[in-house]
Amino acid sequence: MIKAITGTKDILPADIPQWRHIESVVLKVMNEFNYKEIRTPVFEQTILFTRGIGESTDIVSKEMYTFLDRSQTSITLKPEMTASVVRAFIEHSLEKKQSLNKFFYISPMFRQERPQAGRLRQFHQFGAEALGSKSPILDAEMIIIPFRILKLLGLKNLSVKINSLGVPQSRENYKKILKEYLKPHLNKLSEDSKKRVNTNILRIFDSKDQKDQEILNNAPLLIEYLDDESLEHFEKVKQALLSAKIPFEVDARLVRGLDYYTHTTFEVISGSVGSQSALCGGGRYDLLVKELGGSETPGVGFAAGIERILLACANEKSLRLNDESLDLFIVNIDKNLSDYAFNVSLFFRENGLSVDLDYLNRSVKAQMREANRQNAKFVLILGGEEFAKGEILLKDMNTSQQVTFLKDELEKVVQKIKSQLDANNLRS
Ligand code: AMP
Repeated sequence: MIKAITGTKDILPADIPQWRHIESVVLKVMNEFNYKEIRTPVFEQTILFTRGIGESTDIVSKEMYTFLDRSQTSITLKPEMTASVVRAFIEHSLEKKQSLNKFFYISPMFRQERPQAGRLRQFHQFGAEALGSKSPILDAEMIIIPFRILKLLGLKNLSVKINSLGVPQSRENYKKILKEYLKPHLNKLSEDSKKRVNTNILRIFDSKDQKDQEILNNAPLLIEYLDDESLEHFEKVKQALLSAKIPFEVDARLVRGLDYYTHTTFEVISGSVGSQSALCGGGRYDLLVKELGGSETPGVGFAAGIERILLACANEKSLRLNDESLDLFIVNIDKNLSDYAFNVSLFFRENGLSVDLDYLNRSVKAQMREANRQNAKFVLILGGEEFAKGEILLKDMNTSQQVTFLKDELEKVVQKIKSQLDANNLRS
């Protein structure tokens, strides 16, 4: 048997209502905040990510799906969206059309990580990027938006962690101070952390190694070394979050190891999904656009993982979706009428109803069973004595009430079904 690749997942018809629901909530909230959708290709030149994410990050050094295509160009399946959005922004000179561009996306991403619950190799993110403003209100917006989406999905067990990485100058100073602090402990650090001392020292805080964490317990923290401008920016972000009634805590150890991050970084955490608990992460990246060849443009964004959110929703039983039941099932008593039944189904479909019928030559009883299995709201019965008299029978499956119509009165049948569906919607 040929199976799907490890770490990838089929999204089967039974799962689709949940995905659609999340996507519709994302569209609704992005519209409320006036973010416009952007779609970029699934693959890009590798150099976009090595430069845009940074050589020393886990994503670039260990996790990218990179290959040479037939013309020997190095291609990478996108592991995240920010670099692609920034590339498109620069390539199409979007800053010329308006000074602040607010984008959102929903897209698959690819990272060769060790698969586990909540960690896949193809997964899906929705997210946003705002390019063109330094306003701390936008940093706050990048937390308010996903928080609102997660609330609308019924999630309760949420917490928000924020931190500031300041501007590069104060960060560089701090890195020296941290290096100094770690010097006497170097031999006791884990192998990974030893490497990070020289490549990406801030990421040491992400280490899961207990010994590393013990050493870091007394380490100086970046936030204690921030310059005034960074502190003021951070204060304003916190104020905006307070006004939006977002509960948050400052976590001075939250580093998101990208070199181009400046000022705010954050994560939205769920207490309902086990070890892979970050549903969403993001931050400000005022240096990235320039790094990728554009003019100096501040930016800020977030990305949230849909599979992890679904896991949290399942564990909190927060998504109660109306099942997508069928409007009408056509039951065909007389096998000779199957072409007629098909044409009738097309008429109803063109009139906006969801319709199904028997394609398997089943008995009337089996067809009725199928209508029930599909939760059909109405059944139209063709054939038998009524049909011989020029009539067809419509049954409301909710009330079991039956009404006969002349068979050339299909418009009236449509009207009857629609008015009943409207009445039911009004009631529910
Ligand atoms: P990141 O781009 O690493 O900050 O990730 C942002 C969000 O994407 C995370 O909080 C997760 O919800 C999700 N995510 C990241 N990596 C994976 C993965 N391998 N599998 C599933 N979801 C992921």
